[in-house]
Amino acid sequence: MSTHFVIIGNGAAGYRAAKALRRADSAAQVSILTEERHPFYLRRQLGEFLAGNLTLGEVIFQSRNAYRRERLDLFLMTRVEQVDPPAHEVVLANGERVRYDRLLVATGTHAVPPDIPGTDLEGVATFDTLTQAQEVRRLVKDVRDAAILGEGIVGLTLAESLAALGVRVTQLVRGERFWPEMLDEATSARVEDLLEGAGVTLLRQTEARTVIGAGGRAIGVETAAGETLRAELVAVGCRRRPAIDIVQGSGIQVRQGILVSDALRTSAADVFAAGDVAEPTESEEFGPDDAAFCWQRAWAQGGVAAAGMLDRRAEPALEAMRLRTALFGRDLAVIGRGHLPAGGSVAAVEMPDGPEVFRRLVFQDDALVGAVVFGTGESVHELNRLVAERAGRRRVALALGLQEAQPAPGPMPTTQARHCPICAAEIVIHYGTAAGAAIRCPACSTDLVVRWDGQNMWLDVSRP
Ligand SMILES: Cc1cc2nc3c(=O)[nH]c(=O)nc-3n(C[C@H](O)[C@H](O)[C@H](O)COP(=O)(O)OP(=O)(O)OC[C@H]3O[C@@H](n4cnc5c(N)ncnc54)[C@H](O)[C@@H]3O)c2cc1C
Repeated sequence: MSTHFVIIGNGAAGYRAAKALRRADSAAQVSILTEERHPFYLRRQLGEFLAGNLTLGEVIFQSRNAYRRERLDLFLMTRVEQVDPPAHEVVLANGERVRYDRLLVATGTHAVPPDIPGTDLEGVATFDTLTQAQEVRRLVKDVRDAAILGEGIVGLTLAESLAALGVRVTQLVRGERFWPEMLDEATSARVEDLLEGAGVTLLRQTEARTVIGAGGRAIGVETAAGETLRAELVAVGCRRRPAIDIVQGSGIQVRQGILVSDALRTSAADVFAAGDVAEPTESEEFGPDDAAFCWQRAWAQGGVAAAGMLDRRAEPALEAMRLRTALFGRDLAVIGRGHLPAGGSVAAVEMPDGPEVFRRLVFQDDALVGAVVFGTGESVHELNRLVAERAGRRRVALALGLQEAQPAPGPMPTTQARHCPICAAEIVIHYGTAAGAAIRCPACSTDLVVRWDGQNMWLDVSRP
């Protein structure tokens, strides 16, 4: 009898897994259950669809006929309510039960709308699915002012697309700077510049208290400080949570997401999880606000999960990517914990390359634990691997063809003496001297520079 593979979710992870399963096992039955009404589409391109740069046909990646040709059984508008591992069944919203041999949970994330009055008004929108994007496209025709409550990739996408459509956009930012859970300070500032350059008004340290309505429609937002903003479109739900509700109470282990091994196996036999809903058991970084919701990672994990479901040795996805996007035509990649501020055992090396390109490497002790690359796609792939493997400084420097990447050392903690490289006179360099300090040899008057790398100190002749 053929194996029945059941996949819950038809996003990047679910779709990739379905294709891989069919390719590897032509006799298997592959069923994909999704609550959405469209076949697989490019979720990360919804902003381009809203801005009118892509048509519906261009966003939808695979037609229903193509599923039929590949004998992939696609069940649209089919919500799963519960996974039942002991019975090897999933329970649908209509009460039907579907039996599986192997199950993949690839349910992605849910938007978390703010808990404030007025979010049920017409004109208040989330922007997670193609259906919702169609709705926002319909609403936007009558909109002059929009308010985006919060940040995140959805908030960014919306701000860029709405501004491109000529809508006056105000974005409410909870903290002092944009998206600190994902971006380091320098990258936040660059993103803020791009948004403000496009005409988006950023209100920092501002949260919404109420969505104001008239006649059942949104007309504005009242902030927690009592300010009133005009807005006929209010975008909510920029914050996200892994969609784990269908495994709650099933015995499958969860934390923020569904806990998985490197091979994406869950704690239940024959049940796998992949994409945004999956949380690596070993991960240190999957806190409530710094999870990785990322297309590239979900896509890669779909392939890994399929291998596991086929009982093949599954190489781990080696994906440390947390965000890869294009913002106003600039590439932005955040890998691992690229956002961490320097301090304690964490050192950050910032490498601007002209005004447009910026790289930041984050080391914890000797291991590369994160990177941010802005303005170029170069070295992103390499850095993704290096972060996933927690490569040491020397390997990072070699791989990227850099001088060995070192953070700027602090001032010298002790007083030390060295000889002048010209006349050999002894020179005392006092503690607190910074690397690069200029001094003059008291014996031969040669101009010298103090070199200090955090461990060793030496003197060079200054060359103008
Ligand atoms: C507007 C927008 C812009 C984005 N831009 C970027 C970007 O630039 N770069 C980037 O890396 N990422 C971006 N993302 C995030 C990216 O799309 C996700 O990380 C990626 O889609 C995750 O894939 P996934 O397969 O894990 O889940 P998803 O693509 O979210 O798919 C989940 C699937 O599960 C289904 N599902 C959920 N619950 C159930 C249930 N109970 N029953 C049945 N079906 C269910 C859903 O219908 C859906 O088909 C963006 C997301 C949005 C919304």
